[in-house]
Amino acid sequence: MSVKAIIFDVDGTLSETEEAHREAFNKTFVEFGLPWVWSQELYGELLKTTGGKERMTVYLINHLNKPADQKKIAKIHKRKTEIYGELIARGAAALRPGIAALIEDAAKNGVRVAVATTTNRPNVDRLSEACFGKDAGIVFEVIAAGDEVKNKKPASDVFDLAVHRLGLHPSECVGLEDSRNGLLSCNGAGVPCVVSPGVYTLGSDFSEAAAVIDCFTEVDTVEKLNNLLGE
Ligand SMILES: [Mg+2]
Repeated sequence: MSVKAIIFDVDGTLSETEEAHREAFNKTFVEFGLPWVWSQELYGELLKTTGGKERMTVYLINHLNKPADQKKIAKIHKRKTEIYGELIARGAAALRPGIAALIEDAAKNGVRVAVATTTNRPNVDRLSEACFGKDAGIVFEVIAAGDEVKNKKPASDVFDLAVHRLGLHPSECVGLEDSRNGLLSCNGAGVPCVVSPGVYTLGSDFSEAAAVIDCFTEVDTVEKLNNLLGE
């Protein structure tokens, strides 16, 4: 069966945004006078927790043995989202190879494109403006974002929401992901998942994926994607 819709993860899939997120967190911590510094190594560990507020909570409790004041975390996170947006607007992240070509080819072939992400809507909008020069709502027919669902990835909520908004059966869609949490979320919604690991997710277990590829250039047309899934 040929794919009717492609559902993209954002962070790590559309773009290697994690370094910009890390930089935004660190800049925010400085602004708030906090002595927290997230190294690449630590951030790789913290990324096992999806969602920025959830990630800070885990850091406070597990790494600093401190109580996590959710009001303060929300305040810090709000500012982090602003700083992240500024970094992205300044060109801190580019699309991963193959992504732009696939989205263009999907439009030509009447295949619909959607987003299922744990990140919040403002982050999706800033990335889309910077990388596509267009609003996210113009590039993607459906956007399901982390701030709209109860449970973040690896729960299937955000993929369930994307599939529901597309009005398709999950098996008519394909999800593109870079992480194990994303793969579990996608599969949990019954959507076949193609994984291309990113810098922070290389070496994770992707054994349940429909396919694992080195680079999204391997699926930069709908035909290539269908061939990969049909194998
Ligand atoms: Mg991701």
